[in-house]
Amino acid sequence: MTEVGRTLHESLFGQKANANRCKGCNYPLEVYEIDFKKNSKILRCQRCGLYHYYKKDFVGKWKLRKAVKPDFPPK
Ligand SMILES: [Zn+2]
Repeated sequence: MTEVGRTLHESLFGQKANANRCKGCNYPLEVYEIDFKKNSKILRCQRCGLYHYYKKDFVGKWKLRKAVKPDFPPK
């Protein structure tokens, strides 16, 4: 299986309890930016550079809003 096929397979079937993993390649995410005023944060994949936008819901749980390719950086 190719690298892309393998990571796709992992992302589809190997979903773990840990939410802070890349939606694209399942690699651990690093914190890119945190906005405490808006209760939002951006995590970035250390491997493929995909940006993951999180927002805190009313019970204080981080929820993923969207994942953006590095071709479209937030700034
Ligand atoms: Zn990734």
